[in-house]
Amino acid sequence: CYRKGGYHAVRVGDTFNAARYVAQRKLGWGQFSTVWLAYDTRSSSYVALKIQKSAAQFVQAALHEIEVLSVIANGDPSNSKCVVRLIDHFKHTGPNGQHLCMVLEFLGDSLLQLVRYNRYKGLALNKVREICKCILTGLDYMHRELGIIHTDLKLENILLSSTIDPGKDPVKSGLTPILERPEGSLNGGATMNIIEKKLKQRAKRAVAKISERRASMGGVVVQKSERSLDGIDMMCKVVDFGNACWADKQFAEEIQTRQYRAPEVVLRAGYSFSVDMWSFACTAFELATGDMMFAPKNGQGFSEDEDHLALMMELLGKMPRKIAVGGTRSKDFFDRHGDLKRIRRLKYWPLDKLLIEKYKFSEADAHEFAEFLCPLLDFAPEKRPTAQQCLQHPWLNLRTSTQSEMNNESTVENLDSRVSKLQIRGGW
Ligand code: ATP
Ligand code: MG
Ligand code: MG
Repeated sequence: CYRKGGYHAVRVGDTFNAARYVAQRKLGWGQFSTVWLAYDTRSSSYVALKIQKSAAQFVQAALHEIEVLSVIANGDPSNSKCVVRLIDHFKHTGPNGQHLCMVLEFLGDSLLQLVRYNRYKGLALNKVREICKCILTGLDYMHRELGIIHTDLKLENILLSSTIDPGKDPVKSGLTPILERPEGSLNGGATMNIIEKKLKQRAKRAVAKISERRASMGGVVVQKSERSLDGIDMMCKVVDFGNACWADKQFAEEIQTRQYRAPEVVLRAGYSFSVDMWSFACTAFELATGDMMFAPKNGQGFSEDEDHLALMMELLGKMPRKIAVGGTRSKDFFDRHGDLKRIRRLKYWPLDKLLIEKYKFSEADAHEFAEFLCPLLDFAPEKRPTAQQCLQHPWLNLRTSTQSEMNNESTVENLDSRVSKLQIRGGW
């Protein structure tokens, strides 16, 4: 993809926007861009530099994302609304064309990485609550103050404000910023490897030092397990506004990542802010259990969409007929009575029971959590609570005692694979 119209190749020490930003290391990439840790020489701080591919459709997409991010930044001067901040944007010309670049505040690992570090066991409910408050703060701001629908809320698109791995954090690890391309870098690849190796060694040493310090303070050497989550305050922010739209100016009929997609989107019955609330509930469930709430698959004689609708009904009860037949694609899945055409026998397993029986929640935890989630998963979109209403829910201010937290964290099965509870039709 590093060709005309594609990604811009970056080397450590490359400078951008009249030498204001200096590339330090790659943070990640997506379909549209590569994202680099960069040092901002003007503010003497680290930032994330998102460099878009250069073909026309990517430029268009970046212009849209910049527009949304600018509206978000303008409405939140104190940067306290749990959405990523756009700091700057500019054009960068390279051998593959002109690339739009976004400078964003530097954030840490995503919630998906957090759940992975925890070996897909599900996080302690007190941590889930803190994360939920942040996400809801962000959603309430987008929805109520700006009229923006995110349309792609999921674990990957929520980033922690600090990294889990201290070796990855340029401030905590005490690395000095690289200010120019290291000597001899003109011969490309070989030098690049040496620099990357050196950087990795430095990061490793930093992690070792921190682990040592903890051990000498009587703690346990940090491992990549739930232990390393202990010291993390759970502030997080919503990112990736490439697919966001305005409630009154929508671009696509099919939105959201499959597993987080609301029923009205599957049925093509129109959508609004409440699609984000559905995805939010799926996200909260996944944080607390380590499993996706819905992971539909196509099978013999039925499509992924039909399986998805069946999974929803098995967890939430039968979809009211009026809603089932109300979308432009309803006829593909439902007969006129509102029954699925190809999946006839549903195995109902309500949320509170599932939490107790499969995830070993205590009765109280299960009922309270289900009471919080179920209204967000109402098949009638207009009945779902808004982010503002959800922020008032008493569940967010409960504290689970340490004992039941430990039960929740240690007895959940299925540690190693990210499999949905309902993955195989008829499988349980
Ligand atoms: P997608 O295909 O998901 O739309 P994209 O090209 O729009 O991808 P992003 O999802 O915005 O790119 O970013 C790609 C990756 O870069 C993220 O998954 C994350 O790992 C990292 N990243 C993005 N923004 C930041 C940030 N502000 N701070 C730290 N890392 C970031
Ligand atoms: Mg993304
Ligand atoms: Mg994107």
